[in-house]
Amino acid sequence: MAEIRDPYEVLGVSKDASAAEIKKAYRRLSKKYHPDLNKEPGAEEKFKQVNEAYEILSDPQKKAQFDQYGSMGGQQGFGGNYQGGGFGDFGGGFEDIFSSFFGGGSGSRNPNAPRQGRDLQYEMDLTFEEAVFGKKTSIQYTREALCKTCSGSGAKPGTSPETCSHCGGSGFMRVKRATPLGQVVTQQECEYCHGKGKIIKEKCSTCHGSGHTQEKHEVEVSIPAGVEDGNQMRLQGQGEAGQNGGPYGDLYIVFNVAPSKIFKRDGAQIYFTMPISFVQAALGDEVDVKTVHGDVKLKIPAGTQSGTVFRLRGKGAPFLRGKGTGDEEVTVTVATPKDLNQKQREALKAFAEASGEKVRGEESLFDRFKKRAKR
Ligand SMILES: [Zn+2]
Ligand SMILES: [Zn+2]
Repeated sequence: MAEIRDPYEVLGVSKDASAAEIKKAYRRLSKKYHPDLNKEPGAEEKFKQVNEAYEILSDPQKKAQFDQYGSMGGQQGFGGNYQGGGFGDFGGGFEDIFSSFFGGGSGSRNPNAPRQGRDLQYEMDLTFEEAVFGKKTSIQYTREALCKTCSGSGAKPGTSPETCSHCGGSGFMRVKRATPLGQVVTQQECEYCHGKGKIIKEKCSTCHGSGHTQEKHEVEVSIPAGVEDGNQMRLQGQGEAGQNGGPYGDLYIVFNVAPSKIFKRDGAQIYFTMPISFVQAALGDEVDVKTVHGDVKLKIPAGTQSGTVFRLRGKGAPFLRGKGTGDEEVTVTVATPKDLNQKQREALKAFAEASGEKVRGEESLFDRFKKRAKR
């Protein structure tokens, strides 16, 4: 089986080398190892590798695919049934190679592939009113960020991580073992790079080679009007730094909305209970009703029953998605008067009489005094 090497490594260029740099490296190396010019043992093999590498890196599509999936040298082990003799044999069929590798069912991941950073969650407490009307605020939290000293490479500035030559950058080694059943090839983590596929000779002194540092991070947050308890909001790229040039993860803000002492709320609808006296209910009145938008006058028609619901249009919460504002539903409850004084009692008795009603009632303290005085 022909060895497929990391084309960057073969040409001795960095991952972000320009097309011109790649071409220059290729020209130099192909001249150096050309079989007509170099009669050293192994030169011909080198010449082939240089050509294969240039074939990948000079084709933007193949280069992109390589960059995405990483070193072919390591990927070879994944499928197990790959028998090709080099990239040239596949023509444009790169996808076939990759799909057969990934179809092999191995759980191994290419350690050099860019990976998005972790998502973070932030719980934010909001008052009832803040949830209704939204809020602009800023939040601070600690997150793993790209190290500013080494820009995430983990290597001392001026140096760069090298592809691990022991595993070709795959992070895995193939180990052959003789067993009674025959030769068994197993994959295990490369002991030189510990599965990272890269070796950092001189570590960045700020992050000690991890490429990440803990940073205090501040983000402006514009909470939309109409959020509810348990809603979450995603802030793209405000999570933790990725690996191998992968993007930052996201931040999810989860809202804890405090209940109101006055209102209940369901989406854009706000509910309010308004106690009125039975006189107001019977005779009708105009009352001030609390809403989140301030007090609103409400006409109580004469003869209003306890439990009657009035709707105040547009006095609810804004719709989180879409336009407009919900309503406030006002439920009036008629309060039965308590601890009546004598004058009130008499008025009520007179009212009952006028209604042709015979009410026995409870003896009041005053009535008892009067009875006692007669004895
Ligand atoms: Zn660093
Ligand atoms: Zn290694």
